Amino acid sequence: MESIRPNSLLEFVGQQQAVDILKVHLASARKRNAPMPHLLMAGPPGLGKTSLARIVASETGGRLLEAVGGTIKTPADVAKLLGNIRSGDTLFIDEIHAVQRSGEELFYGAMEDGSLTVEDKSCDRMLRDLGLGAGKATVKSVRRLPPFTLVGATTLLGLVTAPLRSRFQTILTLLPYSLKEMTAIVLRTAGQLGLAMSGDVAEEVARRSKGTARIAVSNVHWLRDYSLAHGCRMTGKSAGDAFLMKGIDGNGLTPTDRAYLQRLVASAEAVGVETLAATLGESVETLEQAIEPFLLAQGFVEKTARGRVATAKARSPCGVAA
Ligand code: ADP
Repeated sequence: MESIRPNSLLEFVGQQQAVDILKVHLASARKRNAPMPHLLMAGPPGLGKTSLARIVASETGGRLLEAVGGTIKTPADVAKLLGNIRSGDTLFIDEIHAVQRSGEELFYGAMEDGSLTVEDKSCDRMLRDLGLGAGKATVKSVRRLPPFTLVGATTLLGLVTAPLRSRFQTILTLLPYSLKEMTAIVLRTAGQLGLAMSGDVAEEVARRSKGTARIAVSNVHWLRDYSLAHGCRMTGKSAGDAFLMKGIDGNGLTPTDRAYLQRLVASAEAVGVETLAATLGESVETLEQAIEPFLLAQGFVEKTARGRVATAKARSPCGVAA
């Protein structure tokens, strides 16, 4: 998929509260000639966290260093990452809740006062070489880091530990986009891909994109491909046919969503998330982070202590036939 990320806050549609707060931080940082404070962004996938992190880097003029939380396991991983930082850089860590605890602790000092505490094992090695026993002479040395901004993103804010969370000056919560904002994102994307589309068709595409920018972008790519392959203009009819081919219904529900709902509707009892994941061949994480938020928000599903339960809405013609 072509990269058509918004490059500036001006191009970034919606998320007004988050954007307003960012503008204040950026303006203040510019006037102080200092980096922006550390920032944590929370919200489901595809709402624009990575895009905003990139915008922070470009608006502050520093480099963007990127890492994924799950790959940061040891203090050495963190030290390597922080050791690469130059003055004014933005370090973006996606899924920051997945950083392992022993590594995470190194971030505390780095975020608080720009200090990086590393263990110097050379003394230990020297003692061992001299036959004086190892493991007793670990010396800690403290390095000063250049000023930088840490931007963390998470789909699971509840898993970000309190000590880490408290070191971010600002936590931005990104919310699903309104239909109007989604329509603007669809039109922007269609324009970038050279796909002519009326406002009405764009609104229909927006309605089927679950309030999620990434889904809107992906749907517009699909419609562009469909229109090129069929040599047709993107009318309401051709858009409807293209969505039908992929099994995306009027609510934006996909075949996987419907399989999920059908499994629940077919069960007289609540179903555990592990069972659902096994039935659908998806991971629990995918269900919890990518599939369920929309179904819960739209009232197709309820979470109970015993598991997930389908609501009456899931049986409606828009969801699943009873
Ligand atoms: P996240 O990091 O939250 O998963 P991304 O920043 O990767 O989301 O955004 C997913 C896609 O949606 C990208 O292609 C990006 O261009 C687009 N996008 C996200 N937010 C917006 C927005 N507010 N306006 C326009 N496009 C957006």
